[in-house]
Amino acid sequence: MKEYEVIIVGGGIHGAGVLQAAVAAGHSALLIEKRALASGTSSRSSKLIHGGLRYLESGQFSLVRESLRERAIHLRIAPELVELKSFFIPVYSDTRRRPWQLKVGLALYALLGGFSRGTGFGSIPKRDWSGLDGLETRNLDAVIRYYDAQTDDAALTRAVVESARSLGGEIAMPATFVGASLREEGVEVTFDQDGSRVSCRARVLVNAAGPWATQVARAVTPSIPVPAVDLVQGTHIVLPMHVTSGTRFVLLAFLFGEHLGTSPAALAAEVLGLLVLALGVRILSGSELVTGTPPPPATGPDAAAPAHSRQRG
Ligand SMILES: Cc1cc2nc3c(=O)[nH]c(=O)nc-3n(C[C@H](O)[C@H](O)[C@H](O)COP(=O)(O)OP(=O)(O)OC[C@H]3O[C@@H](n4cnc5c(N)ncnc54)[C@H](O)[C@@H]3O)c2cc1C
Repeated sequence: MKEYEVIIVGGGIHGAGVLQAAVAAGHSALLIEKRALASGTSSRSSKLIHGGLRYLESGQFSLVRESLRERAIHLRIAPELVELKSFFIPVYSDTRRRPWQLKVGLALYALLGGFSRGTGFGSIPKRDWSGLDGLETRNLDAVIRYYDAQTDDAALTRAVVESARSLGGEIAMPATFVGASLREEGVEVTFDQDGSRVSCRARVLVNAAGPWATQVARAVTPSIPVPAVDLVQGTHIVLPMHVTSGTRFVLLAFLFGEHLGTSPAALAAEVLGLLVLALGVRILSGSELVTGTPPPPATGPDAAAPAHSRQRG
């Protein structure tokens, strides 16, 4: 029976990162992925490598500092995968947060980021507002620009796995984790690959199965405590057009969802927000709307599993 120091279940960005860290630290490691790298949540995120601006509001300063530090590292070591993008915050006369409050927050953000690249911000002069396509300028008091980073999440996951592979990391794919038995000296792991059942041993088993993490945890014997996981789903909308108005409708959908959490009311609010958005876009432009909801998991053992897990995203 083959032995490893670390076995990881799940080939999303977390499994990829753990594999890379394990082999970089000199451990032998195997990653088991049932479909394809980044076939789960890691190819369906909003694709931001963000500095955690919104965590400022909840006072999670160390998380913001950590996020900004990691964003700077990504920008430095993977410029072909991660790039800075401008983000615009419109402040209307009825917007709760005033421009000075946003600027104080962004100044703190820059400070926490050590004034590194991409932590600058500023106001867009009124004369340039008309150049911001899709911006409603009625009752607009200010537009503030800051920067965040964007990536191709699936390509990033594959790049991390490639790096791990170059350091000796092994990958079983497609291969489905079936179960694990905890023993004194480690763990015996079973998975199905190419129609055969394979067993191997490890000192450590890492459950990086994302939304399927509870299913993986339940397949461990003797049974271990399985924490409750709250699952969420997001909807990305791709508009095959230039938005000429209606950007506030987009915000509406996300704000409702965020305030209401994951309750049925939140789902209803999201659907309502999307309907309003669809209606707004159709009325204003007459264009078709393309929704980018992730496809449901495939049939078979995945059928009951949701597409997304609650993450800090
Ligand atoms: C709507 C939304 C938007 C987001 N936007 C952002 C963002 O902009 N920026 C950001 O940083 N984060 C974002 N996130 C969070 C981010 O997407 C997740 O944190 C991340 O993708 C989770 O990766 P993971 O590796 O934990 O899970 P996953 O990517 O889901 O990987 C789990 C893997 O486990 C495999 N698996 C499951 N069961 C088994 C089994 N039995 N055997 C073998 N393999 C198995 C699956 O096939 C899958 O590939 C967002 C999340 C959501 C929901």
